[in-house]
Amino acid sequence: MDNCRILRDGHIHSPYCPHGTKDPFELYIENSLKLGLKEITFTEHMPLPGNFMEPEFLKECAPSQDVIENYIKELESIKDKYKFDIKINIGFEVDFIEGYEAIIKDTLNRYGDKIEDSILSVHFIKVEDEYYCVDVSPDEFGKIVKKLGSVEKVYDSYYETLLKAIKADLGLYKPKRIGHPTLIRIFNTEYPFEYKNRRLLEAIVKEMKINNYEVDFNTAGIRKPYCKEPYPSGILAELVEAYGINIVFGSDAHTALDVGRDFIKYAGELE
Ligand SMILES: [Zn+2]
Ligand SMILES: [Zn+2]
Repeated sequence: MDNCRILRDGHIHSPYCPHGTKDPFELYIENSLKLGLKEITFTEHMPLPGNFMEPEFLKECAPSQDVIENYIKELESIKDKYKFDIKINIGFEVDFIEGYEAIIKDTLNRYGDKIEDSILSVHFIKVEDEYYCVDVSPDEFGKIVKKLGSVEKVYDSYYETLLKAIKADLGLYKPKRIGHPTLIRIFNTEYPFEYKNRRLLEAIVKEMKINNYEVDFNTAGIRKPYCKEPYPSGILAELVEAYGINIVFGSDAHTALDVGRDFIKYAGELE
């Protein structure tokens, strides 16, 4: 079956994700093989750099250090088991947390030699001295809007943080791919807004170009009930294309069934 020209899924979670499913690696891999994928990266969330928010909440966001050690160990043997069938990369999705750059760099240095592919994502923004997670729920998003005064200001804050992430010194093992760069649109059907600050978006894309970063073309947004579009979209997607930034498809699967999801819809336009 000629089901897709995209042969790689660069953004997949795992049974080690605290907010994901317990689907075993084998199930993700079997589904990848069925789709004809030739290469996949498991990008489990890297342990977070400290308790910058409610610890109970943060525990749900990313695995702890001990758990991530097991993730790497298990993947090393799984990789070997499937080596004749598919290329499997051991990876991380690394959170950029403003103010915690040094700790993030230390964590990356600790695991760097085991990590073959990775993504740098912004899920948290710092407002004054507080941190907010942007993709929890429409209600939580509403709180950020209230705090900052408008949806536009929330977008400003997100994209300013993204620019800082791209410029940050996270050391030798800093990821080369930027995760779901328009994640801030995750609740856009509830908070409709078209962001037009081309100057800031262009600064982001220029910085990606200078540093030779890639973009995670993330199809998870299509499945999100208040989003219905991939990341990136709109002006940012146009700029990514105009600047010739390389894109890597990512399903952001947290369940084996979502591997390679919706790639075919965009394959023709973007490859
Ligand atoms: Zn996740
Ligand atoms: Zn993410």
